[in-house]
Amino acid sequence: MEKLVYLDNAATTRISQKAIDAVMPFLTDNYGNPSSLYSLGQKSKVALENSRKTVADVLACRPDEVYFTGSGTESINWAIKSAVKAKKDIGKHIISTKIEHPAVKNTLKYLGDNGYDITYLESDSVGQISLDELRSSIRSDTVLISIMMANNEIGTILPTAEIGRIASEAGVLFHTDAVQAVAHIPTDVGELGVDLLSLSGHKLGAVKGVGVLYVKKGLKLEPLIHGGGQERGKRSGTENIFGIVTLAAALEEAVSHMPLTQVTKLRDKLIEGVLKIPRTQLTGDPVNRLPGIASFVFEGIEGESLLLLLNQHGICASSGSACSSDSLDPSHVLLALGLSHETAHGSLRLSLSVDNTEQDIDFTLEKLPIVVEKLRMMSPLWKG
Ligand SMILES: *Cc1c(COP(=O)(O)O)cnc(C)c1O
Repeated sequence: MEKLVYLDNAATTRISQKAIDAVMPFLTDNYGNPSSLYSLGQKSKVALENSRKTVADVLACRPDEVYFTGSGTESINWAIKSAVKAKKDIGKHIISTKIEHPAVKNTLKYLGDNGYDITYLESDSVGQISLDELRSSIRSDTVLISIMMANNEIGTILPTAEIGRIASEAGVLFHTDAVQAVAHIPTDVGELGVDLLSLSGHKLGAVKGVGVLYVKKGLKLEPLIHGGGQERGKRSGTENIFGIVTLAAALEEAVSHMPLTQVTKLRDKLIEGVLKIPRTQLTGDPVNRLPGIASFVFEGIEGESLLLLLNQHGICASSGSACSSDSLDPSHVLLALGLSHETAHGSLRLSLSVDNTEQDIDFTLEKLPIVVEKLRMMSPLWKG
């Protein structure tokens, strides 16, 4: 196969070799059901509980605050829907932002269509919210704040610990979508002051289809999925041991690379190089930014065509959100930053991992300007 330069780690990641090694016995001989009492089943049970302990160590919480789910999306749905239900006697007001991932955005839209009142805080031009606006948005009927820890399209890191303090002073539950943050920046739930935190396995080197919800001790959440009572009655369905074992092994490996100094260096080299292309803008916060995300808008270009041409060079990239890739609507995140529809169409996200090399960056910086120039020459939007 020809050389592949994979720069779409915010969409999904290669499965870590340690995760593959860890899961092999469970794909072959250790197929027992963790709920079974014989030794074969108990091997799965032990793996399950060891994995829970690993996740708890990374989040600096108790193992019994960790629940395994079927995805980041499921964790988010469970957190938001059950949190507001738990507080239904207090009110129906929720506070969030305009730049959430569709998993949060569409869960809130569903609640909005079903009698809830949602306040979406404004984002500034780099994707930051105003803490004063957050404070003044809290009402006596506010039951939940759901604000992502770091944005998947533009890499902006939000002030989660400050939000946590405001939420806790107001006595309002706080959920954070930490899918892009975990294993990239510190995620100690005590320091962040969160009640609920969602994460996903496949964004950090595990297989697809496994996630975690952290639920602070004492918070009673109704299950989203009912059945045989697995996960202490909170998330039924025979446990996805393969997913869970890969999640724990991948997470352990990923956090061992933190802080991501080399990734950050490559990201900055990429940003510096790409910004040399005329009429190109960095999107997201230049300072409070995920180590692995470089994101841009190019004037006079259509993002999808850019991705197709990059693919011809073996470069895997994205326009931002995987979910908006096949729709013609520009990203709601870029619009929230105040970009025009036209500019927002010309977006590109390059997301790195520890697997990326200097050569990957040099190769991309060689090809990208050529591809951009070619598209601009062909574009009716481009006015020279
Ligand atoms: C990928 C992602 C999700 C969804 O996680 P899945 O496991 O793919 O369902 C949610 N939020 C953010 C910020 C993401 O990047």
